[in-house]
Amino acid sequence: MHECFSRGAATFMILGNLCTRGCGFCSVPKGSPRKKEFTLDPSEPENVGRMAAQMKLRYVVITAVNRDDLPDGGSTHFAETVRQVSKALPQARIEVLTPDFCGDLDAVARVLDAGPHVFNHNMETIPRLYGRVRPQANYRQSLDVLQFGKRHRPDLLTKSGLMVGLGERPAEVESLLRDLHEADVDVATIGQYLQPTRRNLPVSEYVTPAQFDAYREYGLSIGFKMVFSGPLVRSSYMADLVNEQASQATV
Ligand code: SF4
Repeated sequence: MHECFSRGAATFMILGNLCTRGCGFCSVPKGSPRKKEFTLDPSEPENVGRMAAQMKLRYVVITAVNRDDLPDGGSTHFAETVRQVSKALPQARIEVLTPDFCGDLDAVARVLDAGPHVFNHNMETIPRLYGRVRPQANYRQSLDVLQFGKRHRPDLLTKSGLMVGLGERPAEVESLLRDLHEADVDVATIGQYLQPTRRNLPVSEYVTPAQFDAYREYGLSIGFKMVFSGPLVRSSYMADLVNEQASQATV
């Protein structure tokens, strides 16, 4: 379990420290199911709940590595973590930032039925760059996961994020924003990609503040409730504020 804390909000990464995937932008170590490197701590959901309560959090983000080695993608464990946080801290808002569960919509439903308030799944980049950035993911599948989330729980705030500076063109980012809006996503977050280690993809470009503003304006013009766009914006960056403002916004 990893956690990150600020302003009464914290992000917990569950399901282990190793990922079954190897996204080009991510520094989480990749493990091998063949070498039996993966574990699952059955006490993790309760421990996350207890820690969230001890920290008196107002906003809890629960995210996870991809666990393609598990038949349910780790969704049962994920759902139990949501329930334990909810039980330990009934007043807190809970955001789930989930993997794509290989497009298994029953797994997505399992997590959403546990009662989070915000459903986040990141597209990360434009479809042309998926082969380098998210080689084991599928653009259409991620859009379908997001759209399913909204249809399954229309009361949920849905959210997705992408990085820029990986070689995308502005027209491609606008196209991605249109796809997200058509998939009924309420909130988009757009931030500058920064290379976390020398083994990760290099930065292609540092996007100008004016371009970030243009992305925000474009997103709002096509109907997003909220677009957070800026060099330092991250998926869970001020998640409580994003949630607060988007909930108050009118479409
Ligand atoms: S699936 Fe998530 S945790 Fe795994 S490598 Fe990709 S971004 Fe990192």
